[in-house]
Amino acid sequence: MNTSPPTALTPDETPVLVVGAGPVGLTAALALRALDIPVTVLEARERTAQRPGSRALYVHRSSLRLFEEVSPGLGRDIADYGVVWHTRRTLYRGREVYARTYPEASNGDLPPFTSLRQVETERFLLKSAESAGARIEWSAEVCSVEASDDTVRIGVVDGRTWSAPYVIAADGARSAVRQGVGIDLSGSRAEGFHVVIDIADGLRPRSAERVLHYAHPAAGGRHVLMVPFAGGFQIDVQCKENDPVEKLTDPQTLKRLLPRLVAPEAIGEVMWVSQYRFLQVLADRFVDDTGRLLLVGESAHLFPPFGARGMNSGIADADAAAQAVALALLSGNARRADAAIRSYAHRRRAAAIDNSAAVGAALAHLRPRGTAAQTKIELAGRLAPWIPRLGEWLERAPYGPRTTTMAKTRIGY
Ligand SMILES: Cc1cc2nc3c(=O)[nH]c(=O)nc-3n(C[C@H](O)[C@H](O)[C@H](O)COP(=O)(O)OP(=O)(O)OC[C@H]3O[C@@H](n4cnc5c(N)ncnc54)[C@H](O)[C@@H]3O)c2cc1C
Repeated sequence: MNTSPPTALTPDETPVLVVGAGPVGLTAALALRALDIPVTVLEARERTAQRPGSRALYVHRSSLRLFEEVSPGLGRDIADYGVVWHTRRTLYRGREVYARTYPEASNGDLPPFTSLRQVETERFLLKSAESAGARIEWSAEVCSVEASDDTVRIGVVDGRTWSAPYVIAADGARSAVRQGVGIDLSGSRAEGFHVVIDIADGLRPRSAERVLHYAHPAAGGRHVLMVPFAGGFQIDVQCKENDPVEKLTDPQTLKRLLPRLVAPEAIGEVMWVSQYRFLQVLADRFVDDTGRLLLVGESAHLFPPFGARGMNSGIADADAAAQAVALALLSGNARRADAAIRSYAHRRRAAAIDNSAAVGAALAHLRPRGTAAQTKIELAGRLAPWIPRLGEWLERAPYGPRTTTMAKTRIGY
């Protein structure tokens, strides 16, 4: 346990280091700057290195609101850049079973979500973090961590070192920081894999609607999800157990498959093709033994993407961690400082457990084990034209229960 009071700092020392300049680390930096706390971010990549792929497209309103709070105008800018679709359609074996168009909100509030590639979200966050005075050290790959009762010492591969009273680890799924302090991940890997293809808009852009197609006849009976984002759309094909991955991501296969899924004139450049398997795992603890090192985002939890909980819950972690560190630094009392950090770990791990359960339910729906669950989907698909609530169930089930663990309240100071 951390028993030392927070240390007094000289002006050029940093009270907090954030490891990782992904969406979660950048949000942590912004949230700290919003509380007037100096912060240095250590990032392994070079400044100009491009991260591949669309990854998290969907930014929830709770995240947009949080961005507005930590950097006024940022949530609105991201919302305006992204795409908000108003129509959702669900099909089963080529037949529509659900379609709804929602009215556009006209009250000036932020939209319920917006959709843009993660690289774009990161671009907005980086610009705001730098404007807010966060210091970013690029090409700083962390390779060693030593945490004691009053400080954490971080080493990077080129031999440089940093020390700070608190470290927020946002260095993603393979977190060197988490491994450095011996915190394990527990959970499981989902069966099967998905192929994800990002396509730029063609000459006639595809309409901005989200389409889920169960057992798509043109995709050999595989489930296909199509999600618009700013400038294009993503096709996510849920593969079968024994599908040959390389064949499905082969350019020739895609050339044949894509025009069967989307009107050819809507297909522009193929921007990214990837195949991935889902992990559903949680760190055993979100804070180390000393109470000086906090895990956030994918360093702490990995979820399948249904319901868009990965990045969005990481953003909420980042803000909660920044507030906990702020309280700890301001408390001037070791016991209260430690309580603030432990409270962070307790609350955000509980949120991650909720999110994990929700995506587990979604996963059980999309990859049913056993014939009973499979039959339920087939029956719903066949009967939905006569029983509309079955179509609604097919529409909603892949996103899991609607929980509010991503939202949070900022403390006021
Ligand atoms: C194919 C795919 C699709 C996805 N779809 C969705 C989705 O639809 N919705 C959703 O919410 N989420 C989705 N996700 C997950 C989402 O991308 C992650 O939740 C999000 O990137 C997590 O952000 P993060 O900042 O915690 O980690 P990351 O984005 O992984 O960022 C970690 C950062 O730390 C840096 N780093 C790593 N190691 C070190 C080190 N040793 N030293 C210094 N820096 C280091 C990395 O370079 C990186 O910049 C998807 C992911 C993938 C791969």
